[in-house]
Amino acid sequence: MAQRVGLSDGGSKKTSRVRVAVRLRPYMGKEDEKGEGSCVKGLDSQNLEIINWRNATETVKYHFDAFHGEQTTQQEVFLSSVKPVLPHILNGQNASVFAYGPTGAGKTHTMLGSSEQAGVIPRAVREVFDLVRARDEEEGWDYSIGMSYLEIYNEKVLDLLSPNSHDLPIREDKDKNILIPGLTHTTISSFSDFDKHFVPASLNRTTASTKLNQRSSRSHAILLIKVVRTRRALPNRQQIGKLYLVDLAGSEDNRRTGNQGIRLKESGAINLSLFTLSKVVDSLNSGTAIRVPYRDSKLTRLLQDSLGGSAHSVMITNIAPEYKYYFDTFTALNFAAKSKLIVNKPFTRETVAVMPVKRSREGHEAGGSGT
Ligand code: ADP
Ligand code: MG
Repeated sequence: MAQRVGLSDGGSKKTSRVRVAVRLRPYMGKEDEKGEGSCVKGLDSQNLEIINWRNATETVKYHFDAFHGEQTTQQEVFLSSVKPVLPHILNGQNASVFAYGPTGAGKTHTMLGSSEQAGVIPRAVREVFDLVRARDEEEGWDYSIGMSYLEIYNEKVLDLLSPNSHDLPIREDKDKNILIPGLTHTTISSFSDFDKHFVPASLNRTTASTKLNQRSSRSHAILLIKVVRTRRALPNRQQIGKLYLVDLAGSEDNRRTGNQGIRLKESGAINLSLFTLSKVVDSLNSGTAIRVPYRDSKLTRLLQDSLGGSAHSVMITNIAPEYKYYFDTFTALNFAAKSKLIVNKPFTRETVAVMPVKRSREGHEAGGSGT
C-alpha cells in the first residue's frame, strides 16, 4: 500500500501557499450617500460576485479559500481562518495572519475588534495560552511566551512598546531566522498580562493616527507572539515558534498608484511594503517565481521566515459592499483570487425592497427569485 509518509516532498524548495479568505463587512447606510445599495454579493462559503463595471450586464465571480459573508461573527472568522494555524507555533514553526483591504473595510475590526466583539488578536493570544496549558507535562518541554509590537511606517521599523524609539534594523542570523536587535520583547504569563502591555500601546497608535494624517491607514501594525519551548532533559533542546498578527496599511494606496501611473519609488504616497507583499504572495501562490522578492521591502524582509517556506500564512482580505469602495474592492479581490470568472448575468441587488405583487403569478420565472 502506498504510504504518504515516506514520499519525498521536493526538499527545501517546497514553499507553502498563502491561504486567502475574504470577509465582507455589513452594508452601512452612512457610507452610501446615493443609496445605491450593495455591489458585492456572497454566493457560498468560497465564492462571491461583484458587478462588472465594464459591462453592467455581467458580474465577475471570484473563488477563494474561504468567503466570510457579512453575517459572519468574529468567532467564526477566528475558527475557520486562524485557529487551525496556532498549534504549529507550539512546535517551533512560524505563522502569519494579515488583514488586507482598503481603509474602512474592516481590517482593524477583524484583527482587534472591540470589547463586545473581540477580534483575531485577543482570541489568538487566549488560544495560545490555552494550548500551552493543555500540553501534557509528561512531554517534557517547558514553554515560555513573549510578545513584541511594532509598526512599519514609511519603511521605518518602530517599536510600539517603547515610545520614542527610532528606526530599527532587521537582521538575519546564520540559521536564516529574522530578528530585530533592540526591539522590546516582553515575557507574558497570562492573557491579562498581554492586555496590560498591548492596550496602552495600541491606544497610543490610534490617538497618534488622528494627528498624523491618518497614520494608521498608512502604517502596518505588527504583533509578534513568540513561543519558546525548551526540553527539560539535557542537552535542553530549544524550539522557537513565531506568530505574526498584522493589521496592514490601507490597500487604496496601490489603486491610486495604478490610476495615476506614478513610478513606484518616486512617490512618498506609495506603500512599498504593501506593494512588495502583494508580489511575494503572488509569487508564493503561483509557484512560478524563481525568486520571491522578500528583500524588496521592510515588511516582507521582516516576515521572510514566517511567510511561505515552511510557515503557515493566512491573508484575510476585507472588503466593503458600498459602491464608493467599488474600485478598491475590485483591486483587493483581483489580488490573490484563486480564480475569477466573468458571468453573463445581471447583478441582483439585494437591498431593493420587494413590493407586494398585485396579480399573483403562479409558476416560476427565470431570474425572478422573490428574495
Ligand atoms: P479598517 O481598519 O479596514 O480601516 P475598520 O475595522 O476601522 O476598517 O472598520 C470600519 C468601520 O466598519 C468601523 O466602524 C467598524 O466597527 C465597522 N465594521 C467593520 N467590519 C465590521 C463587521 N464585520 N461588523 C460590524 N461592523 C464592522
Ligand atoms: Mg484600521
